[in-house]
Amino acid sequence: MISFSSFSLREELTQAISDLGFETPTPIQQKVIPTLLSDPQDIIGLAQTGTGKTAAFGLPALHHIDVSVKHVQCLVLSPTRELCMQIQEELGKYGACMRGLRITAVYGGVSIGGQIRDLKANPQVVVATPGRLIDLLERKAIDLSDVRCVVLDEADEMLNMGFREDIDLILKNTPTREYTWLFSATMSNEVRGIAKRFMKDWKEFSVAAANATNENIDHQYYVTQHHNRFETLRRLLDFAPGIYGIIFTRTKQDCQEIAEKLMKMGYHVSPLHGDMDQKMRSKVLERFKNKTLQCIVATDVAARGIDVNDISHVINYELPDDPEVYTHRSGRTARAGKSGICMSIVSPKQISTIRQIERLVKQKFHKSDIPDGAEVVRKRLFFYLEQIANAQPRADFAKLYRDSMMEQFADVDKDELIRKLIWLQLKDTIDVYQDADDLNAGYDNKEKGRSTGRFARLFINLGEKDGLNAQKLVQFVAESTDMDPTTIERVTIRELSSYFNVPTDAAEFITEHLASKKFKGRKIRVDQADPSPGRSSGGGGGREFNGNKAPRTGGARFGGEGRGWGGNENRGGGGGYKGRKKFA
Ligand code: AMP
Repeated sequence: MISFSSFSLREELTQAISDLGFETPTPIQQKVIPTLLSDPQDIIGLAQTGTGKTAAFGLPALHHIDVSVKHVQCLVLSPTRELCMQIQEELGKYGACMRGLRITAVYGGVSIGGQIRDLKANPQVVVATPGRLIDLLERKAIDLSDVRCVVLDEADEMLNMGFREDIDLILKNTPTREYTWLFSATMSNEVRGIAKRFMKDWKEFSVAAANATNENIDHQYYVTQHHNRFETLRRLLDFAPGIYGIIFTRTKQDCQEIAEKLMKMGYHVSPLHGDMDQKMRSKVLERFKNKTLQCIVATDVAARGIDVNDISHVINYELPDDPEVYTHRSGRTARAGKSGICMSIVSPKQISTIRQIERLVKQKFHKSDIPDGAEVVRKRLFFYLEQIANAQPRADFAKLYRDSMMEQFADVDKDELIRKLIWLQLKDTIDVYQDADDLNAGYDNKEKGRSTGRFARLFINLGEKDGLNAQKLVQFVAESTDMDPTTIERVTIRELSSYFNVPTDAAEFITEHLASKKFKGRKIRVDQADPSPGRSSGGGGGREFNGNKAPRTGGARFGGEGRGWGGNENRGGGGGYKGRKKFA
């Protein structure tokens, strides 16, 4: 295995990397760093954010810096202020042990005076947005006459933002430039154009294909009519109570409107788009980072400034025009080995686009049901119950009020007290979802098949609490029954149970086979779910909105009635199904 120590980086850099806890270089680092250390030359790196590309160019760039020379030796151009700040921060970490190293970031949207002062301190590395750099050049506040290395980061994005002429001008103003390192998530003719105009015999390195497939992302899509998009978004948010996510819109106007609507409804969200001034954008990012905000509603360009590693959900309010952009969006979750969910709200017509994206990311997308009102209430109930179960009140909490609290409830029965507390917590949700519509729409051929009896809906007693997501459930069912995973569809994962469609003639076979299996030692129960055309919760039970009545499944989880843990393994079953991949 390649390690950082095999790179012959200068000692200060190896030290900083080890201090940061980086163990293995990422694929783009493995490809790029050795070349740029031993034989610095022009390169193009095709890699997205999250691949470790900043270190891929940053470490070699710092390696070649002479800290005793007080001139700008390396210039990094990047499309947005947020990215500039991130790159400066990241390079600062890598160069933490290089005494005398100065890295300055210059970008628009803030006063230029402070930046002019920073530049007077003679940094060796400058990270800049093209517009502000031109401004500084015109004011003769920066001297690029000794720059040896220019990095163009997110070149495609800079071009999308209309910086082509600025980039040309800047590159023309770097007479001593020896090498140019261009990084881009996508390769367009315009990107290639820059290379042709300003680079010589460049080498190309790509990690795009490998990176597009991140198996830790569960890709889900929800089909609804266009006019139900917002309601669907709201329902998905309500159904994911612990969400920490990004909601992507295609336009700034949508971004603003959707965020405002959600904020009015009491959600902790904020918009993030290019029409907001820098100060506001920074504030939003800060609130998101410190988790005051649960979600950001963002346009693609503005979202590039979000550098957060633990995003749980990405929601595509609209699919992007370019399927490649989908991979940028979904890549915001499931970073650094974590898992994440990417949900897309689509109209029936857009299912073909989903197929296209599936081919690009080389992963199957799961068509999921938009939960009904009862399911949302149940989900939130469990979330709340779990919060109570996990709460750790401070030991001295309520010491002062203990007696009055006890007195107040002295005659109240415990059950009633619980009911009241839960009712208080959930009554708003219950009000909203009392008569909630079924938002699922778009009966594609497979759904037609289901209603004409070609597909059966099955219930299984495994859910999110068992560590399952749609992808894992399909894998488990397919492996346990030797079914072809593509025949298992419309997976809906609930707290304690799940549903999925299989061809009708396979239903009995699957039910029998799964009944003889165990999951993490637990016996499995599979039944045919309610075959009615609605998307009711079937075997999961509990459609009542009655806040006084805990759903059937609730008692099992929280009342400790047991869910059939252990038990005898039933090695029954048998028979075959023609759709199986292979026979055991
Ligand atoms: P980037 O793609 O440059 O935006 O990097 C994404 C994140 O990965 C940053 O937070 C880096 O600090 C981190 N990172 C970069 N290289 C490594 C590595 N080899 N091992 C672990 N983390 C890394």
